[in-house]
This record gives sequence, structure tokens and C-alpha cells, in this order.
Amino acid sequence: MPKITTPKAPARAPAHAFAKTRKTFKTASGKEGRYYSLPALARQFPNVSRLPVSIRIVLESVLRNCDGQKVTAEHVAELANWQPSAERTNEIPFVVARVVLQDFTGVPLLADLAAMRNVAAAMGKNPKTIEPLVPVDLVVDHSIMIDHYGKKNSLDLNMKLEFQRNQERYQFMKWGMQAFDTFGVVPPGFGIVHQVNLEYLARGVHKTKDKATKETVYYPDSLVGTDSHTTMINGIGVVGWGVGGIEAEAGMLGQPVYLLTPDVVGFEFTGRLREGVTATDLVLTVTEILRREKVVGKFVEFFGEGTSSLALPDRATIGNMAPEYGATMGFFPVDEKTIEYFKGTGRTTAEIQAFEAYFKAQGMFGAPRAGEVDYTQVVTLDLGTVAPSLAGPKRPQDRIELGHVKSQFTSLFSKPPTEAGFNQPAAHLHTRHLVRAEEAGEKVPRAAPANAPGAPREVVEMASEHPTLEAAQSEASSKQPKVGDMSLGNGDVLIAAITSCTNTSNPSVLLAAGLLAKKAVEAGLKVAPHIKTSLAPGSRIVTEYLEKAGLLPYLEKLGFSVAAYGCTTCIGNAGDLRPEFNEAITKNDLVCAAVLSGNRNFEARIHPNLKANFLASPPLVVAYAIAGTVLKDPMTEPLGKGKGGRDIYLGDIWPTSDEIYALMKYAMNGKAFKANYDKVAKEPGKLWEKIKGTKGQVYDWPGSTYIAKPPFFDDFTMAPKKLVSGVQGARAMALFGDSITTDHISPAGSIKESSPAGIWLKANGVGKADFNSYGSRRGNHDVMMRGTFANVRIKNLMIPAGADGSREEGGVTLFQPSSEKMFIYDAAMKYIAQGTPTVIFAGEEYGTGSSRDWAAKGSQLLGVKAVIARSFERIHRSNLVGMGVLPLQFRGSDSWESLGIRGDESFDILLADEIAPQQEATLVIHSDGVARKVPLTLRIDTPIEVDYYKHGGILPFVLRQLLAA
Ligand code: SF4
Repeated sequence: MPKITTPKAPARAPAHAFAKTRKTFKTASGKEGRYYSLPALARQFPNVSRLPVSIRIVLESVLRNCDGQKVTAEHVAELANWQPSAERTNEIPFVVARVVLQDFTGVPLLADLAAMRNVAAAMGKNPKTIEPLVPVDLVVDHSIMIDHYGKKNSLDLNMKLEFQRNQERYQFMKWGMQAFDTFGVVPPGFGIVHQVNLEYLARGVHKTKDKATKETVYYPDSLVGTDSHTTMINGIGVVGWGVGGIEAEAGMLGQPVYLLTPDVVGFEFTGRLREGVTATDLVLTVTEILRREKVVGKFVEFFGEGTSSLALPDRATIGNMAPEYGATMGFFPVDEKTIEYFKGTGRTTAEIQAFEAYFKAQGMFGAPRAGEVDYTQVVTLDLGTVAPSLAGPKRPQDRIELGHVKSQFTSLFSKPPTEAGFNQPAAHLHTRHLVRAEEAGEKVPRAAPANAPGAPREVVEMASEHPTLEAAQSEASSKQPKVGDMSLGNGDVLIAAITSCTNTSNPSVLLAAGLLAKKAVEAGLKVAPHIKTSLAPGSRIVTEYLEKAGLLPYLEKLGFSVAAYGCTTCIGNAGDLRPEFNEAITKNDLVCAAVLSGNRNFEARIHPNLKANFLASPPLVVAYAIAGTVLKDPMTEPLGKGKGGRDIYLGDIWPTSDEIYALMKYAMNGKAFKANYDKVAKEPGKLWEKIKGTKGQVYDWPGSTYIAKPPFFDDFTMAPKKLVSGVQGARAMALFGDSITTDHISPAGSIKESSPAGIWLKANGVGKADFNSYGSRRGNHDVMMRGTFANVRIKNLMIPAGADGSREEGGVTLFQPSSEKMFIYDAAMKYIAQGTPTVIFAGEEYGTGSSRDWAAKGSQLLGVKAVIARSFERIHRSNLVGMGVLPLQFRGSDSWESLGIRGDESFDILLADEIAPQQEATLVIHSDGVARKVPLTLRIDTPIEVDYYKHGGILPFVLRQLLAA
């Protein structure tokens, strides 16, 4: 029987094992600061001076937090002796300086903390026992949608709808702000989490009272965030990455974030970018290269002289897409450009001086030159070879040079899905379908409820007498730009969005988009009004510099009015297409396109009916909006007709580097940054000020379909329950193919009326128009468990193929042994009722995509005991363990297909009595009276994960620890 230990309360900190490494540094103005010195540690471990900079920053945390308990002298020695090519078996306990959250993931995390306080109160403890130990910042950016676009007041209208939809969630956040001392919220309308982090939250170095000596010590910024693209912060030399909400929760409650000692891939840039090539082109190239190099689970560190030549925002753009190339981080060391960026973004002189002096004292200032540092592997790119590119139409790593987009789309149009094609008859490529004016937005708006507002001003007021959003949405639909009779065809661009922190944080590409718009307007080019165009800057600073540079009016003329400060199209909040377009697309099986400056383009992420989604730089987004189709080659064909019927080519309106550079002065203005971010506390906005939060240390869970007390601590006891080793008599809930994303497992987008979640919402009095999205309802487990595996595109291969070989899409399964077809949620409830455990079978990269703890939480609540896959994505694997669900991996070339698993068998999973990381497990397949045994690898990867699993997950583990203190 596995041994279970109850966590002990932390004892008094013993003397620091490396006290001699505490030294003093001096800033430019003579101020002194104490710090744990890596050069001093290098006297004992000479290897330290050849470590990659990213490893040194993690080492500093391990050194400083060495308390002989959670972090030991052995941990310090192990990491100080990091070797570039050693076998990776040791885990590093990494104590981070802070945590950042976005609202989709932050709300459920806050709900878990609130539920922990309920447990503390029920046990007669002080609820304040549950309190984040490091600063936590939640940036509200994921909720706003593009309902209105192409108008000057689009932003106001969209924000008012956002507040109307999310009032209950925002009230809950306000409760959190007053209940937890270290929990802050950047309200809606300020920007996107990673851009706000870059421009405002990151402060360079922190200081704290040292536990052992009580003196103030300085240390570098580091963090984890509940969003995959947290890695954007790597661009300014901050070590940080995305984790699931449950890991972040543990991190903020004093648990180190544990990671397996990583390989570090050195990425050397040489040369310089050519004229006309953007940071977006570069990041798509880097993504393609690093995908090929298989950097999953590794740190990537950029170095070399080309790295020093890159502007800070370009580095941030490259750091941002680390999840797309699969790395844990895409790290850029601190250097002069970082200091310049801090100056240009309004950080104080004292902060900047401490930052620079600290990194210089640590010997970590400046990107290493070739040969200075030992990397596991080195990859080199000559920046001069990067060409203008897009990526898509289905995956971010599928880069296409601009001149090949048309031919690539044409070729994929008729290729089978196994070759990433759209499976359409080639002869249909140029067929167009008429959409009549009365169908295309000219018809009378849907009848609004009797008490619904009739005028826009009324629609947007937050009065409680407006019970539904139907009127407002109807209004939004009827106010969209009108179009006449038109035709729709394959390759038509229906969404063109300047979106995503990946690019909106980068003034060079935003100014390029504005300059291109200016030249296009001056040349007489237009964007067809039926294309959903939007500009969603990642912070208000973008609008300010576009205005100062005189470019915003030109973007607006082409439909790119500011529509939101938030994620919007990047997270799938593009809003719906016109119903007539949806109908034409589905009726005629059209392959229409979106072009966006985002970082992901998985199936159904942007819009369920847009099958081809291309990632591109902001100026190319504008260019494709003008062209209106991806079947036009912008390198050889005119984008459109200008004044006097003249053909206008992309080359006629593409801005030069000099033109962009001349406007950069508007983008880096410290005073403007400071004035903007001072408003977070002082002027958060009228809509936010009007939100009334409840008071008190313990949340009383008023009835809500958005926020509900999560069930994870029901029946909590201080001693963990007896662990039943392995799984017996399980049924297969699903057989999945490769690359099942967390969005397939737990979608963030719209909720279908006929889905289990839709049915539940309606039964609880919520009208279809008020469903909002799964992402916004992550504070309510009743919605989220019903939404698990409910993505409209997920294919459970347990359902036999149709006569034409096609597979049914949607979250359905065959309940066994009757093989009755039903929703996965319904089958899960039946299995739970009869006490039958379930398992999931999958292919490669299970759980790829955004970090999404509900993908693991939902699986657990549906009674899934194990996921058996060919391989796992890093965060999702650890989240499964964190929720007490076993991740198991097939060995060699085994797969459920090769083993002939159909889904009607029953299964046992046998584990060793004493669970150990990555040990062998056995899958027993019972079928037709025969039992077959198959070896598996248990993907519990580290000793601490063994403890989490034994405790039923990370949250009960941490709660026991806190309550025992
Ligand atoms: S804009 Fe996109 S990448 Fe950035 S935080 Fe939002 S969803 Fe993530």
C-alpha cells in the first residue's frame, strides 16, 4: 500500500547554508543593496559562470530560498552543477517573485481560494490562513468581444456589453480585492495581461526582508502566470512561464513551482533583418525552426550579436510565442536595450538604477557572446534570411512565405485532412454563392423584449432592469455596416483583426499597419464593409501613439477602429459573423478565411465557421482586408483599384523602415506610460467603479450561474483518504487522435444551446443571448463540467466512421456495454452513478494549446481516473496530476490503434505499491474473455507530484499544509 505522509507545518528557518554569498552592490547614485551573489557562489561551484543566464536566475531563487526544508543545499549544488547534456531527473523547487492571472483563469483560482477559506472557517481556523504569500495581479482582458466594429464608438459599445455580461464575475473580483491583501486587479479596458505585465507590472528587481538575517535583500523579478503566453515577459529578461491555475494557486500559497531541470537550447541570431521584414515574420520563422528542433520542455535562450540588435518589443514578440514553438521559455538576457525600454515606459530612476546595478553585480548583464556559455544545443539564424510570411491555415508553425499563400491555399483546398487539407473538390475553388442584400444585414432586427432599450444609449446603460443581452446584440447586429447583394466564395477574408499581445505590444508593427493604412487611403483603396475588421490594442498606450503619429484616422477609414483593449479575436472573442454568412458557409461548405495578428489558429478557435486562419503581421492584416481574399497573391497581383481605377500593389503602400523609425518617438514616452497606469488605482473607469463587490473575509456564494463554490474541497479531511492503487474495471470514455488541444477538452468559446451546458443554463433561467462563453463561466463548475469534451470539433474515434470515412464531431461517446450514443457528460454521470471509473485514450501531444486548468478539473469531475496517451503537453500533464488524474504514456510504437482498442473493452491499470516518478505501469485490456497486458510509463514525473497524487491533488495537499501551520 502506498505510504502517505501528512505535510508538516514549516519550522523556524535554520541558518542559511550559503550565508557567505550575501554581498552588497552599489547603484549609479551610490545606494547600496544586499543580494545573494552568484559570482560568490561560483567560488564554490566554478561551473556557475558558464551557466546559461536563464538557469542562473533560477539558481538565484534556489540559493536565496534555501531553507533546508522545501529548498535544500543539495538543490543549490545540483543546479549550480547543471550540465548541458546530462540526464534530467532532478526537480528544481523554484520560488517565484509574483503571479499574474488573466480573468478567465483568475476567476476559478479566486473561487478555489474562497472555497479554501470556507474550509478554514469551518475548521475553526482564521480564514486569513489562506492568503497569497507573493503579489498576485489579475488583468481583466479575456472577456470583451467584438460585437461592434468599424465605428468610432465600437470600444464604448463593446465595453458596455462586456460589463453587462460579466457583472457577477467582476463583483466577485472586487470581493477578492478586499479579502486578500496581496491580490490586485487591473480592471477591464486597460489592456492585455502580457502587455500590461511588460509595460507596467514588471519592475525589474524586488526586495524583501531576508528570513535568516532580517536585512533587506534584492532579487530579480520572476513569475508564473495562468496563461501560456506569460513567456512574453522573457523578452525583458524575466524568467517566467505559463502554468495551470492549480499550480499557480500552490505557487501563490507558498509552494515552490517544481520543474524538471531543463535542457537549454541556445538560439544565436546573426546579421540584421532586411528592409520590409517585420518582427512577426521573424517570430513565425523562429517558431518554424524551433518546432523542428523539438524544444518541448526546454528553455530557449537567445544570444549573439544579432540578439543585441533586436529592439525590446521584437524580443517580447519572440518570447510570447514560446508555447507555439513548444519551449518552456524563450528568454532574452537583460542588456542596455532592456534598460532603455524601462526608461521609455515610465519606471522610476531608483528602480532602473537598482535593476541595472543588480544584474551587473550578478554578472548577468548583456546577451552572452558565442562560446561564453554552455548550451545543450545551439541553433543559429541569420536575420538577413527572414522573409515576409504568414502562418496557417491551421497551425502556427506552418509558415508560408507571402508569395506562396495563394498557391498553398489552392493546394490545401482539395487535399485530404490527413495532409492538413480541406477535402473539397478542386473544381469548387472559384465557385461563388450569392448572398442577397435582405439576407446580408438589411433585414429588420429581431424583436427585442418589451422592456429592452431601443436606442444605443439605453442599450449600453448598466441598469439592472435589462434582463437580457438580446436587445443589445440585436442592436449591434443591425448597426453593422450595411452591404448590398454580394457573393461569398472560398478564400474570402471575413475577419481581419489586429489583435493579440504578440503584436500589439510592438510599436514597429502597429506603426507599420498605420502607415500602410495611410498610404492605402491616400491611394484610394477601401475595405469591403462585410469584412469584420477590428483593432484591439494590448494597451491604451498604442492608441495614444497611433493618434500622436496621426495614423489612427486612416486605420479607422479602413474599418480598423479601436474595438477593445483585450484579447478579442486572439482568444476566439471575434463575435459572430452575420447569420447569413454562417448559413452560406455551412450550406455550401465554404472555406472562408480569417487573417489576424495572433499566435494561434487551431480549428474553431477564431470562429467555428472559418476553416482557414492565417497569422500575419498587422500591416499584412490590413493588406489582406483590402485584398478581401487569400486567393490573391499580394506579391504579384494588385490589392485593389485606387483613385482613377489604378491598380495598387502591396509594394506601393508598404512602409519603409525609415518611415516607421521616424514615428517611434511617439511610442516610447515614459510620462505617457506613467500617466496611463496611474489610472489603474486612481481612475479605473466609471463602469468598474459602479460594480459593487461584497465585503468580508469569507465569501457567502450568492446564487449565480457564473460563480459557484467549487466542489474540490467537499469532504475535506486533514488526513488524506486511503489511496486505492491503480484503476480497476474502467470503461473508455473516448478514443482520441493526435494533437487534442485543451480547447478540445475544455472549450473557451461559445456555448451551444443543445449542449449539456446550454441545457443546464436554460434550466437555470439563462436565455441563449446571455449564455456568454465557457471562458467567462469558469467560476461555475456546473457549466464547466458539462462543457468538458464539448468542443464542437472534437472527434471521439470510438464512434464508427461514416460511409464516406468522415468522423462525427462533438462531445459524444458510446456508453458501455450497451454502446448507446450520448453526450460525454451524460455518460460520465451514468458511470459515476454506477461506480464505474473511466479512462481516456489519446495520441501525440495530448493537451496541447493554452494552459487551461479546467481541462484537468473537468476531467476529474467527470470521473476520469487516467489518461493514456502517446505523449502529453507539459502543463496539461502536470495539471492532470494536480487534480489526481493519472497521466500514462504508451511505450515504443504502441498506441490504442496499434493495440486494436475499440472502446467497448474494460480496463485495469496496475501501479507498483510504492509509486515513484516515471515508473512502469501496466494496462490490462479485458475483451472477449481475454486479458492482455501492455506496459505503460507513469507520467508522474517528480517526487513532489507523487505526494500530490497521494493527497488527491495539489490543492488538498497545499490546504493541509496551510491548515497544519
Ligand atoms: S491576446 Fe492572445 S496571446 Fe495575448 S493573452 Fe490574450 S489570448 Fe493570450
